[in-house]
Amino acid sequence: MIKVVKFGGSSLANAEQFTKVGNIIRGDESRRYVVPSAPGKRFSDDIKVTDMLYRCYELAEEGQAFTKQLNQIKDRYNEIIRGLKLDFSLTEDFETIKKQFLAKAGSMYAASRGEYLNGKIMAKYLGYEFVDAANVIRFDKEGNFDAETTQKLLSQKLEASERAVIPGFYGAMANGTVVTFSRGGSDVTGSLVARAVNANLYENWTDVSGFLVADPRIVKDPEIIHTITYTELRELSYMGASVLHEEAIFPVRQAGIPINIRNTNAPEEDGTMIVESTCRIPVYTITGIAGKKGFVAVNIEKDMMNSEVGFGRKVLGAFEDNGISFEHMPSGIDTMTIFVHQDEFEEKEQKVIADINRATHPDSIELESDLALIAVVGRGMKSTRGTAGRLFSALAHAHINVKMIDQGSSELNIIIGVRNDDFEDAINAIYDIFVVARL
Ligand code: ASP
Repeated sequence: MIKVVKFGGSSLANAEQFTKVGNIIRGDESRRYVVPSAPGKRFSDDIKVTDMLYRCYELAEEGQAFTKQLNQIKDRYNEIIRGLKLDFSLTEDFETIKKQFLAKAGSMYAASRGEYLNGKIMAKYLGYEFVDAANVIRFDKEGNFDAETTQKLLSQKLEASERAVIPGFYGAMANGTVVTFSRGGSDVTGSLVARAVNANLYENWTDVSGFLVADPRIVKDPEIIHTITYTELRELSYMGASVLHEEAIFPVRQAGIPINIRNTNAPEEDGTMIVESTCRIPVYTITGIAGKKGFVAVNIEKDMMNSEVGFGRKVLGAFEDNGISFEHMPSGIDTMTIFVHQDEFEEKEQKVIADINRATHPDSIELESDLALIAVVGRGMKSTRGTAGRLFSALAHAHINVKMIDQGSSELNIIIGVRNDDFEDAINAIYDIFVVARL
């Protein structure tokens, strides 16, 4: 059994957190490959080391003094080293970093040092081999991630290493130039390592006990999702739910490796399992609820629209020509509605309307703004009668007007459109009927 374990920044913010992580890793022999983030926040208005590095490098780039800021970063690491009572020093590494900053090595290089240094401490603390991600995570000359070469380099290297620490978030081009993934990218590294070593499980340790059924900023103390499929996760993440970096899913999904989201501060909890498919029946009919505000509905009407071949294509062409992607497209016989992101659409609205008018000569085009979309997602809905009935009666009881309904034939989700003002109440009403009332 091989497990790859990735720890987020708050799990490694100080020596106390490192100790918890050490206990978790030592508590299970199969936790052989470790992917650390940079030290995160120790308290709510603390600054993540990654952000300190970006700031410090900005000063270097502007030709200003940055020694004080670099020393503050050094202090964060020294505090961890001291707290763990390690006989270890990063003085030489900081000398190199200083030189590289003066030589303007780039902000990606700067940011990557957060993970690099934390990885060195972690390897020392665990007695594991340190594998610099710059040698095994490969980007091409344009800075795009090179999946094939990475898989080759990583699997070769780790095959020869029984236990290793591979810092997250960065890699390098063949010439050694460091490149980072987008923010939160250590999740991606963990996933790549899991695929390379053919892991049985990718454990992603963070500071929450898993995916929640709804956003805790909207619903009070929402339940944790025990098992979720990749498809459900994709639907919920797309609609705004976030725990994992989006690109972290693909490598492990391709290889059929499940992900387990766990809480470093509550290791006794099972967390959330993310799997390709499962016969585990969800506890509630729905798996999760997510949503986003800020949409516009573009309603187009034209008599006999239904018999005009190519009408839909021409309308969508007007959006495409203006570089606007659409979210949903519910339609009637002589009407068609396109949902788009308000911030993307606003500045181009007159141009799009003119293009639709020119291409289709409709009877009317009306715009309705400040709408929200809510996705109610769950594999359990497929075999359950009355899900839609319960959903809409709950919304009616909460005096919420539903502007749009869209259910794909996969029956995996129901998307509803409501006014922005009704967004929070609608999510609470849906949560209450399916989770609190357990229907
Ligand atoms: N340290 C990086 C960030 O703050 C990457 C990560 O934590 O995954 O975005």
